Amino acid sequence: MTATKQAYDTLVHETGGWVASQLEACTRCGMCAEACHFYQATGNPEYSPVWKVELLRRAYEQRFTLVGGFKKMIGLEKEITDEDLKHWSELNYYACTVCNKCSMVCPMGIDLGSLLHGVRAGLAAAEVVPDDLMAAVNKQVEEGSPLGMTDSVWDQRLEWIADEWEEDIPRDVQGADTMVVFSSIEVMKFPTNVAAIAKILNKAGEKWTVSSKAREIVNFGFYQGDEKNTKMFLDRVLEGARDLGVKRIVVTECGHAYDALRWHGANWLPEANDFEIIHITGVLGELVGNGRIKLKPGAFDGNGTITFHDACKIQRKGGHIQEPRDILKVIAPNSFKEMTPNREEAICCGGGGGVIAIKAADPQRYAAFGLKIDQVNSVGAKTVTMTCSNCRLQFTDGVEHFKLDWKVTGLAQMVADSLVE
Ligand code: SF4
Ligand code: SF4
Repeated sequence: MTATKQAYDTLVHETGGWVASQLEACTRCGMCAEACHFYQATGNPEYSPVWKVELLRRAYEQRFTLVGGFKKMIGLEKEITDEDLKHWSELNYYACTVCNKCSMVCPMGIDLGSLLHGVRAGLAAAEVVPDDLMAAVNKQVEEGSPLGMTDSVWDQRLEWIADEWEEDIPRDVQGADTMVVFSSIEVMKFPTNVAAIAKILNKAGEKWTVSSKAREIVNFGFYQGDEKNTKMFLDRVLEGARDLGVKRIVVTECGHAYDALRWHGANWLPEANDFEIIHITGVLGELVGNGRIKLKPGAFDGNGTITFHDACKIQRKGGHIQEPRDILKVIAPNSFKEMTPNREEAICCGGGGGVIAIKAADPQRYAAFGLKIDQVNSVGAKTVTMTCSNCRLQFTDGVEHFKLDWKVTGLAQMVADSLVE
């Protein structure tokens, strides 16, 4: 079977009754375009969300509707070609972070985020996923992590982090209540975050552990759009949790990974329902709210304005919107200032959805980050904090690229630094 046929079949397969109703409901009003940071930043009409799902619409229309069949017959609508697949691969992997903002603004209630995942499934079946992204997927299949965090690297890094920051990081503890799964971005690039989370959980007296089997929360199969790989990576996490007999799984700083495990996991792998799955932001809110940890009021006041970046998959989709604000109101009551728009309506940083892993997508990624620069500058903030290490990577890189004088940090780090001893 040719790659194009494979893609066509996958796109057709994606269009069940629900997808068909979504596609039929679109009035082509164009409101979703204004919500997309890639469209806003570049003005490129092809970056309109509804155009990014055009392949799905075309496959559906040609296969399932009389009008589509007729249009194809008289040449009004062409069949999907190899060139189309290549072109839509760039539109979807370079200029979409699957941030879900377009879904929020559509007056017809169309869930564009899910449709965009459907398009990625077709593109993955056609094997037109950008090379860099595929290299990361293959690394995760073969080594267990896209960032080269093999078993031995993981061992060494955790040992080093525990020594360096003098924090106990319990490993493979049978019968612990909570299993924490870090992202390789944290372990390899932001180790202070691992130490900070360990410090908080130890201080709270949590019975927690990490697992050698479930050592990576990042899910590059989800970015790729391939169900088999996505499930394989999810299953590694669930297997670790099953083996240790934990009750809950805490996802740390990866928004996409949280989306995959929390919202999609149970549909793909029913055993995900055996565990409570929560993001670390929810845990921080819980621990502060029930008094298991105490924070020094105003600990971060006095060093200029601090603002908070909402991560699409943790705040907009995950719902952990209030916890960071409640915490910042305690530790930085006079310095915390909101960007506009914020919360559910926040603008994506531009690096999610695997975009930051694709070198050729740098122009789109930096253009989108330009919107973030304007937002941060307009509140005069010099410190930006967040709850996603993928966003943090994008901010850190953006600060370097645009030579900005901001400090980029994480909320867990701030909580750890404000703990009442
Ligand atoms: S906002 Fe909704 S109805 Fe309007 S073009 Fe976009 S998907 Fe279609
Ligand atoms: S999901 Fe986000 S990045 Fe993708 S098309 Fe919609 S608004 Fe744009």
